[in-house]
Amino acid sequence: MDSRTHDTQDGFPVEGRPARRALATEAVHAGREDLVALGLHAPPLDLSTTYPSHDSRGEAARLDAFAADGAELAGPPVYGRLGNPTVARFETALARLEGTESAVAFATGMAALTAVLLVRNALGLRHVVAVRPLYGCSDHLLNAGLLGSEVTWTDPAGIADALRPDTGLVMVESPANPTLAEIDLRAVAHACGSVPLLADNTFATPVLQRPAEQGARLVLHSATKYLGGHGDVMGGVVACDEELARRLRQVRFATGAVLHPLAGYLLLRGLSTLPIRVRAASATAAELARRLAADPRVARVHYPRIGGAMIAFEVHGDPHAVIAGVRLITPAVSLGSVDTLIQHPASISHRIVDATDRRGAGVSDRLLRLSVGLEDVEDLWADLEGALGAARGVGDRGREEVVGR
Ligand SMILES: *Cc1c(COP(=O)(O)O)cnc(C)c1O
Repeated sequence: MDSRTHDTQDGFPVEGRPARRALATEAVHAGREDLVALGLHAPPLDLSTTYPSHDSRGEAARLDAFAADGAELAGPPVYGRLGNPTVARFETALARLEGTESAVAFATGMAALTAVLLVRNALGLRHVVAVRPLYGCSDHLLNAGLLGSEVTWTDPAGIADALRPDTGLVMVESPANPTLAEIDLRAVAHACGSVPLLADNTFATPVLQRPAEQGARLVLHSATKYLGGHGDVMGGVVACDEELARRLRQVRFATGAVLHPLAGYLLLRGLSTLPIRVRAASATAAELARRLAADPRVARVHYPRIGGAMIAFEVHGDPHAVIAGVRLITPAVSLGSVDTLIQHPASISHRIVDATDRRGAGVSDRLLRLSVGLEDVEDLWADLEGALGAARGVGDRGREEVVGR
């Protein structure tokens, strides 16, 4: 995390770009460099839907330029669907944290993935190679062919052989939702050759992993999760090179899944505490994972080598009883909030995936997914213990039949 690259000469920025600073510093300052000159401390929230101009000829030229190359408009955005200054601050900051040239924000994570698929499909590259598990709705979007994509599911070792002339994208998640399975992104990026690799980095966040440094050309986030961090804003973002960002901006303009400026404001604010939230929640999660692994009522615990605030575990008893038994922990889908959430993927987050495909991807009917928040570890453990007791698991140890329905 402290992998600073010293691209400064005598402390001055090179080529007009700010020196790359440590992640915690960037999290607080990126996207806000102009505030002092503006005489501001908090970033301004621009809610404008339109931007006045007496110069129609000038606006026509700027619109032509955007239509031609998708570069961000210099000056006011003309219209809210073309861009927004508050959202642009969030994009600048996220690109800095992920170590990419650019980032393009969308209304949700699924809108971001949709834009990526549309960009590739428009080039006639409709074939996607993907590794399960993915987030349930990502799996569904690819598998149901809703956007005309055709998907080949494979394991990481099979990627190179699955590529075809019309393959437009390789998609992976690591750690994956919900099993926390990890993938060697560097090896996968190598196997992709010239096909862009999209890594969904929602679970790890740039605090724990920066996929672009390992060769991923597109880094996707459901910003709804850790980037926002407080369970009160939905958003999505793709961090990538400027060439792909331009295509994504053109698709965003034409299809309309923009991030609301207030969401952009909240996401920029969320980034400033991202490193401290992720590290604190990860420390608590590591301890809870240790205790769960030692508990006789728990059959299996999945906790990533790179750490993080997500835990997946399988109980010997009824997983639905664990959900019903929590009192402090919130029984709800989603993740990455300040409060701890638990859900049953086979019932909720991955319900839309066909049961055979779901189980084949390691999402068993006993699996529970825990998103650890910022509460005290002892309070969380007491609540988990109570819920595990309610699941009356000890006597069932070793029984393998599927519980629930
Ligand atoms: C939630 C989630 C998504 C979808 O994001 P939304 O903001 O809900 O559209 C995509 N990928 C992962 C890993 C997620 O957890």
